[in-house]
Order: sequence, then C-alpha cells, then structure tokens
Amino acid sequence: MVEAALGSQFDCLVIGAGVVGNAIARELSRFRLRVGVVEKELDVGMGTSARNSGVLHSGIHYTPGTLRAELNVEGNSMMEELCRQLKVKIDYIGKLTVAGHEEEIPTLYRLKEQGEANGVPGLEILKPEGMEKLQPGVNGLMALYSPSTGIICPYTFTIALAENAHQNGVSFFLGQEVTGIQKTESGFLVSTRQEKRFSTKVLINSAGLYSDRIARLAGINDYKIYPCRGEYLVLDKRLGHHLSTLVYPAPHKGKAGLGIHLTKTVDGNILVGPSNEYIDSPENWATTGHIMEKLREEGEGLLPSLTTSDIIRSFAGVRPKQNPPEIGGFKDFVIEAREDVRGFINLVGIESPGLTCSPAIATMVRDMVADLLPMEKREDFQPERSGRAKYFHELPAEERADLIGQDKDWGEVICRCEHITKKELIEAIQNPLGVRSISGLKFRARVMMGRCQGGFCLPRIVEILEKEFGYRPEDFFSYKEGSNFFTGYVRQPG
Ligand SMILES: Cc1cc2nc3c(=O)[nH]c(=O)nc-3n(C[C@H](O)[C@H](O)[C@H](O)COP(=O)(O)OP(=O)(O)OC[C@H]3O[C@@H](n4cnc5c(N)ncnc54)[C@H](O)[C@@H]3O)c2cc1C
Repeated sequence: MVEAALGSQFDCLVIGAGVVGNAIARELSRFRLRVGVVEKELDVGMGTSARNSGVLHSGIHYTPGTLRAELNVEGNSMMEELCRQLKVKIDYIGKLTVAGHEEEIPTLYRLKEQGEANGVPGLEILKPEGMEKLQPGVNGLMALYSPSTGIICPYTFTIALAENAHQNGVSFFLGQEVTGIQKTESGFLVSTRQEKRFSTKVLINSAGLYSDRIARLAGINDYKIYPCRGEYLVLDKRLGHHLSTLVYPAPHKGKAGLGIHLTKTVDGNILVGPSNEYIDSPENWATTGHIMEKLREEGEGLLPSLTTSDIIRSFAGVRPKQNPPEIGGFKDFVIEAREDVRGFINLVGIESPGLTCSPAIATMVRDMVADLLPMEKREDFQPERSGRAKYFHELPAEERADLIGQDKDWGEVICRCEHITKKELIEAIQNPLGVRSISGLKFRARVMMGRCQGGFCLPRIVEILEKEFGYRPEDFFSYKEGSNFFTGYVRQPG
C-alpha cells in the first residue's frame, strides 16, 4: 500500500515540478518519507523541461571535475534502465561533432581528451568516409563520434517521473506558486500565492529559472539567473529519415549554447536550433521573426531538401544562466545543502545538460537528505510506471485487434496526423495527476502534435471533453491560468 502524505506536513518538500524536481521526488519516494512537490503551473514540466532538444548528452563538453561533467556521464548511464522502468522511449543514436574548417580540428581532439577524462565511453575521431557511413551526406573535414549520445522525449520523461513518484505516494500541488519561506525550529513554513501553507523538515529548491528568487525567499542572496532564450523550428516527420545520428558543429568558445544544429526527436520530427539570446524575462517563450528566418536559412544549409512547408511549428526554451551576457559561456551547477539555512537544499543554474543529469542529481540530493533525516527504505517501492511504452499505432496488429475487442474507443482515430485514438486521449484526460490543460493532453497523448497542429482534431477533442466529461470549453487553458483556448460561443450550441 502506498502511504498517503499527511495533510500538508512533509519531511521533504520540493519546489518545482520540472525534470529535476520530479526525479528528486521519485528518488525520495523509495524511502519512508512524506514527500510533496509544489509547482506554480497547472501541470508538471511546463518550464524548461518541456522546451529543450531532448538530447542525452555524452559528457564531452564539460570540464573534468565539475558537477556538470560528473553528473552528465552518470546520468546518461542511468537513463536506459530508468526509461525502461518508466516506459519512456529512448534511442542512443550517437552524435557527430563536426569540424568544417581546419582550425576547428584541434577542438575535436580537445573534446575527445576531455570526454575521456570524464569517462565518456567509445569516443572516436572519424574522417569523412567514417562520417559518411554514419550520416550520409554530412559535410565536414573530420568529426568526433560519441556513441553514448541519445534522444528521449523530454516532456514524456518529466511526466513519467512525476506519475511514478505519485504512484509511490508523493503528493503534487499544481497551480501553487511559492511566495513565502519562513524558517522554523523544525524546518520551514512555505506559503503560496494561492494561500496554501506547507510545513516541511527539508526544503528543496528546484525552481529552475526562478531558483535565485526562491533562494532569496530563504534568505540566500548569492545567486542571480540570467535568462537566455533558445528558439527552435519543428520539421515535419517527412524529413525524419534524413538523420540517422545527431550532427553538431564544433563549439566555439564563449558561446552560450552548443550552436544551431539538427536534432532528431524520438517521435521522428527534426528540430532546427536552438538560437542564443539573453532576454529580460525568464518566461518569455516567444519565437521571433528574425530568428525563425535565421533558423530556416541555417536549416536549409544543413538539410538542403528542407522547404518552408516542412516547418510545422516553432517553440522556445530559456536557459537559466549564471553568467551575465558580457561573460557568456557556462558556469557549473550549484547543488548544495546550506549550512547557514539548515535543511535547505539549493539547486541553481541547472541549464544544459540538466535533462541528462536529472537522475544523477536526484541521487546526489537523496544523499544530502540522508545527512538531514533518517532514511528507511520502503519494501513496496514500485519502480515501474503503470501504462504502456508505445502508442497504439506502434503495437503489433494482433495486439491492436485485441485492444479494440476490449474497448471500441481504441478503434477510433482522433488525431489523424499522429494516429492517436480516442482511448489514448481519454487516458490522457484521466491522467493520475489530474491535469486539465490542452498542453497536458498534447504532452500525454501527442494529439495536435502533427502536421495540422490540431486543425483537424481540436474540435473533436473539445467535443469529447464537453460531452463525455462535462467540461466547458471556456474552462480549458492552453497551459496556464488565463491562457484560455476559447472565450465563448460564436453561435449557441444545440
Ligand atoms: C534551449 C535549451 C535546450 C536544452 N537542451 C538540452 C538537451 O538537449 N539535453 C539536456 O540534457 N538538457 C538540455 N537543456 C537543459 C534542460 O532542459 C534543463 O537543464 C532542465 O530542463 C532543467 O530542469 P529543472 O527541473 O531544473 O527546471 P524547470 O523545468 O524549469 O522546472 C522548474 C519548475 O519550477 C517551477 N517554479 C518556479 N518558480 C516556482 C515557484 N515560485 N513556486 C512553485 N513552482 C515554481 C516552474 O514552473 C518549473 O516547472 C536545454 C535547455 C534549453 C533552454
């Protein structure tokens, strides 16, 4: 039996339900602890964790001895087993870091040496013949091949961590923005804008772009986050087969990211991006005309068969940089158990490769918690997430026929582009975390994620929500309170 959390009193409370906060919550759910997660958005993974390249980095880019280097290699090595348990697709498709000019070749050797010092397995320098075998048509003089680079769907992974944590007794408080932290004798009193209060012995700051502000609420003024936006184009699946491995340009010193590149997603789309631009507001996820144009041009350069009609969407993510624009580059993660604010575990500046590092960060934080609280392992911890690893259309014909025999909703396709059935949509609506945003349905069932971006299936989805679940369309948000999809009827129904 899963132990339910007692009211709003916790042993450990995590602020932020991104990939890192959820990985920590799941790790802590292995123990007899009351664990809660407070998230300001209406769903988990609505911040940076849903807005990135979805690459499991190998660990070649980071200075040996840094947390980023250590946690990257460790996190990468944990991912295969974790994704199996969580029923999340993963593909170690490898990566070529390509030198296009003579002067970039030493960078490849430097990265190889650095990667080897970090413990990255199987690194190889390839000449054009070797590169061509892995990625037909690739241009360049030489490349560093890293076979342990992989891809996963970042939001599916983030949701899966949360669902499995929830399955193991973690309480999620969505739509609760932490605005106050008070130190008490036994721990902390945490209050939210929505007037909820929580008491906890250990408080974990995993608030991503707002981690500096949460630290300040706890009286820690040491950090400042500089938001740095990365925009992407999403390409139609038609082009997915062009990429058999990832291809990145050799990095240039002082740049905030790894350069614009093509990334294949586990669902078969290609991403072009991300760009690099320091911005004023942490949640300015707008995509902009001039960057879209730049990405289109660069995309055409990298993939000559790309046409404008292959671009089906754009999106942006924001990096929580610790360095200001005039310094640029990367700074190491801050993951600390504060001595001055005992019981406060502080995570700041978890930028790339935070997705890859997340399971390793979780074990590191678990060890910090173990120094603060008695930790007794639970016998009944369930590492396997309930549910299926594959979409219905990916199942063998016999299994599909079987499912349709059990429930006819498996046989009704709602999203034509992604071949998603009514039953898959219903399961997303009935998700364990109780999420009711359109993004929540998209991220769980992949409806509206294809070429037509919902043009065909949105009216049908709304009809099901309305007629079969009794929701009013006006109550449906895109992703956060106030981001209404509909404001009312043009013509009264009926
Ligand atoms: C453009 C881009 C590309 C990237 N590509 C990769 C990649 O390919 N591979 C990789 O490994 N990493 C990549 N990353 C990095 C990775 O996405 C992040 O490191 C990771 O998602 C950070 O997760 P997080 O949980 O710390 O932050 P977040 O996902 O931002 O989660 C923090 C959560 O805290 C919540 N929160 C904030 N303030 C409050 C509050 N006051 N009260 C309650 N909740 C609050 C937020 O709403 C949010 O949900 C990329 C990042 C960017 C921006």
